[in-house]
Amino acid sequence: MTFDYDDQNIFAKILRGEIPNSTVFENDHALAFNDIAPQAAVHVLVIPKGPYVSLDHFARDARPEEQTGFFAAVAAVCAATGVEAGFRAIANTRSHGVQDVPHFHMHIIGGQQLGRMLPK
Ligand code: AMP
Repeated sequence: MTFDYDDQNIFAKILRGEIPNSTVFENDHALAFNDIAPQAAVHVLVIPKGPYVSLDHFARDARPEEQTGFFAAVAAVCAATGVEAGFRAIANTRSHGVQDVPHFHMHIIGGQQLGRMLPK
């Protein structure tokens, strides 16, 4: 499979500092910021700094240090946002997954009781 990265996507612009964001955590390989349209009390997006379009692209092609840095950021976000009671991690992917922004991102959603993942 070929993954074509569009560097004009909104998260690429956030990474270049062209658009502001509400940063929760940052390290060398990842940035985490509050979702602009939160769907729960906690709704943070964690993105790699590298040009990956989706979870499967990142899992296949990101270097080990990029993957470690990304998951270190996920851990830091979970610790910082107080989601000890639980949360949901979502990576919407391409058209069937209803992905709007073509830069890999993981939604960390929690801070309150959530409903079932998918309607029955
Ligand atoms: P997805 O449908 O998984 O691609 O989700 C994209 C997410 O990005 C949505 O939850 C949007 O609310 C969020 N979003 C879009 N633009 C921004 C922005 N400038 N800052 C923060 N979150 C954003």
